[in-house]
Amino acid sequence: MEPSIHIRNLIPYKPGKPIEETQREYGLEEVYKLASNENPLGPSERVIKAICEAAGSVHLYPDASFYEAKKSLSRYYGVEEKFITLGNGSNELIDLLIRVYCEAGDRILTSQGAFIAYKICAQAARVETVEAPLTEDLKFDVKALLKELEVDSKIKILFIANPNNPTGTFLNREELNLLMDKVGHREDLLIVLDEAYCEFVRDKECPSGLEYFRKFSNVIVLRTLSKVFGLAGLRVGVLIGPEKTVDYVNRVRNPFNVNQLALKVIEAAVSDSDYIERSQNLVWNALDTFYAEFDELGIKYWKSQGNFVLFDLGRPSGPVFEALLKRGVITRPVAAYGFPNALRLSVGLPKENEIAIHAIKEVLKG
Ligand SMILES: *Cc1c(COP(=O)(O)O)cnc(C)c1O
Repeated sequence: MEPSIHIRNLIPYKPGKPIEETQREYGLEEVYKLASNENPLGPSERVIKAICEAAGSVHLYPDASFYEAKKSLSRYYGVEEKFITLGNGSNELIDLLIRVYCEAGDRILTSQGAFIAYKICAQAARVETVEAPLTEDLKFDVKALLKELEVDSKIKILFIANPNNPTGTFLNREELNLLMDKVGHREDLLIVLDEAYCEFVRDKECPSGLEYFRKFSNVIVLRTLSKVFGLAGLRVGVLIGPEKTVDYVNRVRNPFNVNQLALKVIEAAVSDSDYIERSQNLVWNALDTFYAEFDELGIKYWKSQGNFVLFDLGRPSGPVFEALLKRGVITRPVAAYGFPNALRLSVGLPKENEIAIHAIKEVLKG
């Protein structure tokens, strides 16, 4: 028995190289993983305390209705509970949206160089992905997206990562307005604004998807607790969308898709404004340092609104990635995203960032 061609051809998501694996393979003690856009501060003290308190209840199934968790998130995002549901990370929500809204043979639309989960989840559901080209400065190209939507009635969902990973670039308010004016009212299309990094955005021109969610009937916003809140390992994704969408996703998801510990610590996570602020400042300071170092080295990079930066080596990045591994620095190759000459570097602790930059300098010299 063989599965369908879609499944046979599926190339699994390749996560950042694990620390232990790198220690083993290269005989290293000190390894710095700047490859998965994780929060290097570790979880906040308040979250750790909440996890310890919740530990005594893990023999119980979690609340399938997310009652308390939704109350906390409703307060935090300023959106009514009825517009919210949760996933096992926003990755699961991407998967669920495709399963809910696409039939085999339908298509989703995104851009080249976009977060790769859209394409993988689509293929697993026997759904094709149309990728509009990026602009020259590696942004989603609204005109190119609109052109695809005009000619292809099989496209059911448009996925926009704003800001995008791995490019760190974003669609500004004017560009998103143009897109929404044209397709924001279409009944046969969903527009998903995936805002995993919105808390790291510094550029005032980058809008919040919630502005569009309130104005347009077909807009869904995805948020996550994996990045600024430092909870990637707990797996909490948040969907903010029309009641109808929330209802359908709730029908399709597993009742206990978000685990007990995760649900119990959401309040502690979203109310810890000190930790959020520290995470933001860490990222912003580090990015400014990276930019300055890259400028000095004459390395091309793209200004990022996330907790990572994409930089271009002007030659295949594989050997540089390897040479950095030997020095204990794990970066992220992005050839699968269409950038064979680039690497993505996540923000770490100041000392880790320093070590990474030092290693990059050495590798490029030698
Ligand atoms: C990291 C990231 C996510 C978050 O994924 P989770 O499943 O919530 O951990 C979503 N979208 C993009 C673009 C990301 O980079």
